[in-house]
Amino acid sequence: MLHNFGSINLDHFYRVPHLVHPGETLASRSYHVGLGGKGANQSLAMALAGGRLCHWGRLGRQDAWARDRLARAGVDVSHLLLVDEPSGHAIIQVDDRGENAIILFPGANHGFEPPALEALLASASPGDWLMTQNECNALPQLLPRARMKDLNIAFNPAPMSEAVMSLPLDACQLLFVNRGEAAWLVGLSEASDAEILLTALHQRLPDTATVLTLGGEGAWYQAGDVRHYQPALPVEPVDTTGAGDTFIGYFMAAQQEGQSITESLEFAAHAAALSVLQPGAADSIPPRAAVEHALH
Ligand code: ADP
Repeated sequence: MLHNFGSINLDHFYRVPHLVHPGETLASRSYHVGLGGKGANQSLAMALAGGRLCHWGRLGRQDAWARDRLARAGVDVSHLLLVDEPSGHAIIQVDDRGENAIILFPGANHGFEPPALEALLASASPGDWLMTQNECNALPQLLPRARMKDLNIAFNPAPMSEAVMSLPLDACQLLFVNRGEAAWLVGLSEASDAEILLTALHQRLPDTATVLTLGGEGAWYQAGDVRHYQPALPVEPVDTTGAGDTFIGYFMAAQQEGQSITESLEFAAHAAALSVLQPGAADSIPPRAAVEHALH
């Protein structure tokens, strides 16, 4: 079983002629709410890929539709807590040039307390996977406790922040990083070659397998001396939001069903390529049938 300790955000999109100026009141031309948050996106991707997982999260009671959306996709939501707090949410302005400005409020994603963590951990069994990102609080408590319980940890330190640097990353079996996150972790420039980033990641975390995604330049897997490269598919991207989340969810589902590393990378890259052809994050994650069609 896999447990995803992950954020759930409501993304509020406002279409505006320009990004609002200080002191200005601006009418929006359109408004819609979508499901977002890296945790929810990765859960949705893994479930759409056919994976079995339980989402550990916190959501405001008034927004139960977001839980129901995950449940409909096949995510076990029995440990998704509905609470009397505002949900995590993003206020996103998108202007006519496609520029955006975002206010992010972590809300319920930052309300995990030790008793709730223990209750979640009690529902996991040794050997299970724990997947997580950097949008919920309590990671400094959760990661060591998960290792003590012999859970395998897959960590995606996104969005990257200084707090990640003091986490016990060597407790993780698997790390998913994009170019910026990798560079931050090892203290190098984002412009560094993949080869240099991989070598530095290996020096910093010799016992952790790493998936380094490089947008349209593909992805690398590294474990010890073993490296595999997966090219990206040649597509004309419409919106790359959520590509990494789609890649991670599909990769974990493929691993769970026993596909090899190279097969899992290929599966994930096809899913992520389809996701960049659609606007949105959660809404752009393709179903498994479409990914299989693209693979064959
Ligand atoms: P993140 O969204 O976390 O920043 P990346 O941008 O590295 O992650 O993208 C993750 C994966 O999505 C890539 O390894 C690739 O497989 C796919 N991908 C991203 N951008 C493109 C693109 N322009 N064309 C094709 N595939 C892409």
